[in-house]
Amino acid sequence: MSEVQRLLRPDLRGRTAYGAPQLDVPVCLNTNESSYPVPEVVIRAVLDALEADLSSLNRYPDREFTDLRKALTAYVERQAGVAVTPEQVWAGNGSNEVLSHIVQAFGGPGRIALGFTPSYSMHPIIAETLGTTWVDGLREAETFDLTVAAAADQARAHDPSIVFLCSPNNPTGTALPFDVIGAVLEAAPNAVVVVDEAYAEFARPGTPSALSLLADHERLVVTRTMSKAFAFAGGRLGYLVASEELVDALRLVRLPYHLSTPTQTIARVALEHAELMLSTVEAIKAERDRIVRELASLGATPVESDANFVLFGGLPDEKATWQALLDRGILVRDVGIRHHLRVTAGTPAETTRFLEAMTELAPTHV
Ligand code: PMP
Repeated sequence: MSEVQRLLRPDLRGRTAYGAPQLDVPVCLNTNESSYPVPEVVIRAVLDALEADLSSLNRYPDREFTDLRKALTAYVERQAGVAVTPEQVWAGNGSNEVLSHIVQAFGGPGRIALGFTPSYSMHPIIAETLGTTWVDGLREAETFDLTVAAAADQARAHDPSIVFLCSPNNPTGTALPFDVIGAVLEAAPNAVVVVDEAYAEFARPGTPSALSLLADHERLVVTRTMSKAFAFAGGRLGYLVASEELVDALRLVRLPYHLSTPTQTIARVALEHAELMLSTVEAIKAERDRIVRELASLGATPVESDANFVLFGGLPDEKATWQALLDRGILVRDVGIRHHLRVTAGTPAETTRFLEAMTELAPTHV
């Protein structure tokens, strides 16, 4: 054992770091980013606002990110039609950071976090690296569905301190049956229940948001991000909405001044241009639905999606298909589910390149 391994926390030894490949390829459809660049108008507005900031970089940023909170509050109210106060909103450098704040405050040694696999791979990583015991709850084997009864039974059995739900779920793409949330809140009375809604803006019409349940549940947290529909992954801004008391508790664990002055400014200006930043969502949804249709016609088994990506099965050897796509300049994601891959819905041209490659590969790969 090396010196460093000997000194490392025993529960971290042998772990591998999160590692979605970052390769320089023409068609990058593996991390559910937006393929559309930031609009010129927003770039100009950001540059103007940043210029005003630069002379004050000798000072720490606003620790409570007051203006950004107000902008996020207004956006959430508009997007979801739910009344919230700025004190109910919290933000971090990506929703990964706000998820880690939740685990720091409500998980930790001797406590259990429950999630339902397959789901977002960072939920167990964040829980375990912060010393929380992870329990891998299960979905239906073939369909990846999570029924109300299965979720409630598993929540009751483990008495967790945190439950992670994800809707629309990554990597499967489908929104959770809405009743699961209420059932889990009831079955796990000692848990903070997190609904990760990173992909909410892509959901099919009529899909309710867990935000609508917040008024009645102090233990419920809804996390969201500007990385996906907002086309702002590089800006690193994720946020959550919860009860004022729960949000206040997160101030105990965050590092002071965790959101830099430029981060706060860039995100706030982007939110001022929300309509423009989100103007590609319908186009992305159209490509997503096209991917589902056309992969099905090739004999693959795509899962219906409420997100900006599609999980598809029916591949005899998913690793060979992943490589064959990469050989054609197309990077998709192997999410570790046998016979399946996940592809992000990009521009129409990117979708065409992906579907043409799949058509060429289908005779031996599907
Ligand atoms: N939640 C889910 C379900 C995700 O898929 C992702 C990104 N892949 C995140 C959270 C984290 O996104 P970010 O940190 O960029 O906000």
